[in-house]
Amino acid sequence: MEKEPILISACLLGLSCRYDGCGKDYAGIGSLHGLCAMIPVCPEQLGGLATPRIPAERRGDRVVTAAGTDVTEQYERGAEQALRLAGQFGCRMALLKEKSPSCGCGRIYDGTFSRTLTEGNGVTAQLLLEHGIQVFGENQLDRLKESLNGRKEERSE
Ligand code: SF4
Repeated sequence: MEKEPILISACLLGLSCRYDGCGKDYAGIGSLHGLCAMIPVCPEQLGGLATPRIPAERRGDRVVTAAGTDVTEQYERGAEQALRLAGQFGCRMALLKEKSPSCGCGRIYDGTFSRTLTEGNGVTAQLLLEHGIQVFGENQLDRLKESLNGRKEERSE
């Protein structure tokens, strides 16, 4: 049986697409190997932003950089591209980087650039949720694995 496809924030795989151009290891991600087919995506790069880039945060319905530039359009374009990829691969789940103005789900930085968190979703996470895709953060791997097992059972019935 084919593995369940899931969309994953490319930076969670250690790729150097983060705003600071650095890669970072996320130890738990390796435990997903064999359980699903991971489709990497970086919505900020797909939206046309450079790497490295000035960090940005959501402020109301806009996204602005720490230098005050409005980058909402690039964030929205990246979200559309991620949704398109999810559709092409049939992803019903996504594992996205927490707190990001693109990928964060549930809690994101509040737009003051003071490392303060507030309730809310990144632009891509929001669009995926609106299209019925379950979104998990990197600290919810156990929940993701439960959902993957549930899908496996559904698919084998
Ligand atoms: Fe790209 Fe999302 Fe990672 Fe930001 S959090 S670097 S948008 S994949």
